[in-house]
Amino acid sequence: LKFRKLNTVTKGCSPEYISNPHTLRVLQWNILSQALGQMNDNFAKCPDEALEWHSRRYLIIEELIEYCPDVICLQEVDHFNFLRHVLDTQGYSGVFYPKPDSPCFYIHGNNGPDGCAIFYRKDKFELVKIETHVLEIWGVQSNQVAVLMILRVKETGREICVTTTHLKARNGALLSTLRNEQGKDLVQFIGRHRGPRPLVLCGDFNAEPTEPVYASIVSDGALGVGSAYADRDADSGRGSADREPPYTTWKIRDEGEICHTIDYIFYSKDDLEVEAVLELPTEEEIGADRVPSFAYPSDHFTLVCDFKLRSSDRFAS
Ligand code: NDP
Ligand code: CA
Repeated sequence: LKFRKLNTVTKGCSPEYISNPHTLRVLQWNILSQALGQMNDNFAKCPDEALEWHSRRYLIIEELIEYCPDVICLQEVDHFNFLRHVLDTQGYSGVFYPKPDSPCFYIHGNNGPDGCAIFYRKDKFELVKIETHVLEIWGVQSNQVAVLMILRVKETGREICVTTTHLKARNGALLSTLRNEQGKDLVQFIGRHRGPRPLVLCGDFNAEPTEPVYASIVSDGALGVGSAYADRDADSGRGSADREPPYTTWKIRDEGEICHTIDYIFYSKDDLEVEAVLELPTEEEIGADRVPSFAYPSDHFTLVCDFKLRSSDRFAS
């Protein structure tokens, strides 16, 4: 399981990159809810101390700020106020939308519901609007949500649409069908608010690339999106699903090891070009006990992608 190194996003905040209004660095991460991680997930090999909020919160913050992303999409956020305060000192503003009946509510000592959040850099963008949505399955609200943000690049007036979601978890044919229904509703939600803008859609879709929801989003055509990590090597000639990284989460539960790809950064191919992606850590870096661990605070890895905004005069205000 070796992730091939291509144009790789590097740590640090180069001034040229940060001030460039024609590039976009996006970070996607399921940060692992504090309440769920500590009380619900039953990670078999993760020491309890590695799950203490007082230590893992520094690792989370470090991971978020060391790449200087323009936009941050997060799932399983149950400490939004902490993140908001710290990221505010780094020039970010953000919004949070909780799951209606978050499983965190049922955990003793919880810090409120978990949900999705988007942060953006205030020096680069002006907030145009925020839309939130409870995903529907056959017309009925589910327990999963999406957050959509329209941002205007201050220097050029160009607007972009950023959306994040965390689809229903668990295995099985029915769950796969439910996720696909949530995906179809998500496509409609985006369609209602995006307009002609470039789209970045990030999330924990809880679905491997072979699941119907992946095809519903990538192949359906309504959104015109590709998957950034799959397209990092676009000349390979294979289907998008075959080109995803080998894992975006890798954990050990009592029932065994779970190592698969379920997190994605989708992007509209007409408007954006993938310039670089952050490599996934290697198996050696991850270690035999997998994650979370003292080195990695979540059971999911961060995805970071550098995009170039293709030139267009359609979006200038
Ligand atoms: P989901 O099925 O979408 O999962 C909720 C969370 O559980 C996700 O964040 C998911 O993480 C995590 N998860 C996935 N697989 C496992 C696993 N094998 N072990 C532990 N955690 C896992 O939840 P819903 O939002 O649909 O809410 C339903 C859940 O909420 C129920 O499954 C139940 O646990 C809980 N609940 C409890 C109630 C109670 O009275 N105790 C009442 C109502 C709900 P990831 O996405 O990273 O895989
Ligand atoms: Ca989880």
